[in-house]
Amino acid sequence: MRFSVLILVALLSAGATHARSQTHAPSAQPPIAVEITLREGPERRAVWVDMTFQGDADGRTVVRLPDRFGYATDLWLNVTEVSVDGGRITPGDAKTLILDHAPSATLHLRYRVKTGVRGRRGLGVEAGPAEGAQGVSFLGETVIAYLEGRLDVPATVRLGAMPAGWTLASDLEAASDTTLREARESYLLAGPTVRIVERRLPDGSRLRVALRGDFDFGDDAVANNAARLVAYQRQYWRAPPGSFLITIDQVPVPDVMIWGGQGRGADSAALYASKAVWLSKFTEVLAHEITHAWLARALGGLPAGTDEPKGYWFSEGFADYLGYRSLVKSGVFSPADFGTALSGHAWPGPVSAERMTTDYWRDPELFNWPYFQGFNLALRWDERLRGSGKGALRDVLLAQAKHAAAGGSQTADALFPKVYAEVSGLDLSADIERYVTRGEPAQVPEAIARICDWLPTADPPRNGVVQLDMDGCVAAAFGPSI
Ligand SMILES: [Zn+2]
Repeated sequence: MRFSVLILVALLSAGATHARSQTHAPSAQPPIAVEITLREGPERRAVWVDMTFQGDADGRTVVRLPDRFGYATDLWLNVTEVSVDGGRITPGDAKTLILDHAPSATLHLRYRVKTGVRGRRGLGVEAGPAEGAQGVSFLGETVIAYLEGRLDVPATVRLGAMPAGWTLASDLEAASDTTLREARESYLLAGPTVRIVERRLPDGSRLRVALRGDFDFGDDAVANNAARLVAYQRQYWRAPPGSFLITIDQVPVPDVMIWGGQGRGADSAALYASKAVWLSKFTEVLAHEITHAWLARALGGLPAGTDEPKGYWFSEGFADYLGYRSLVKSGVFSPADFGTALSGHAWPGPVSAERMTTDYWRDPELFNWPYFQGFNLALRWDERLRGSGKGALRDVLLAQAKHAAAGGSQTADALFPKVYAEVSGLDLSADIERYVTRGEPAQVPEAIARICDWLPTADPPRNGVVQLDMDGCVAAAFGPSI
């Protein structure tokens, strides 16, 4: 099966900074205040960051500068003109500032992040903020530093004024009561041609879709799809109301299909597309990115640092599973649309967890692996659960979200099989060893593959038109519940 990908797409939920942290500073500390302003410079506008916070009680506070995001590394090279009030900077390694100060002193850290032209890959801002005649855009992780051990402490973010005539769209606008981790998992898009379409969701909350550039699809059409998909996910996760932001930026390459995006914390997704991408193709990635509001961040997060790709079979593959599920269950896709979206693909062969760690970000052959593998595993484990009469995959994921919210140190990929066993009494350890640790390709369960016509191409070729039972395919793949 599946996913015709014409251009390498970057669908991943988070950069390598998505380390899970369980450390908490004393709650008596005031929130970390972050202010981000855009200033005119002699050549181009620059992003300035002001952070005010209480230093550690031992008189030494370690600040980690922006480090890496997806394929982009060495992001600290963009940080210049660093100064601190209330302490002094001791040289550390290039990506670390060591601040020495009186115990628990109030510190004011200030630095500039260099802006450049928008890159040609992904959102174009993975390597740093982009700025030009069309405005400014950046990912929070490339701009906001963090205090070691204090990613999950309260933070407030304030955005400075934008130039006159610009429209601003960012999940940082509503970040008065957040954490440094959430603030970093953000996106900002602002400029003179940004336009915003709003939809009211069934739970009464507001969805904003912000667009910049020309697309093959209309603003209203994509906003209508987004509203149905966010509403479905809220229902699936039994999530409370809250505002949601989707940004869509044009990739200015007219004749090539390029599309993709990034989940941005609990309340946002940042997407991009070239004009050659039609609505239903774009809607597939839209559905995928919306699921990242939960996957894997609300279910335990991803492994830290260079181990992060080991968790992608869960964060990316299950995001594809839930993305397609939401498309058909919300009615955005007909069963026939669903069958068409999934088509043949080539496996790169066994990909062990070890190889994911060492090779994922440098071997393009591996890019789609966790998406395919995790999608098939989700189908397989949902089918096994439904067949046992012990529930469905949703029961496991809802239970896992409760586990994760209660704290604990297990990342989502490790927590999932544990909760699966708790819910159903079924043991996945043999499957995990085979399909995750050793990384043998997981096939779609045969009953589903047969009815959906996803059998391997070794089957005899058909002559003439075949009437496929796509309603039956959707029912076999996703079961009867929402
Ligand atoms: Zn993804």
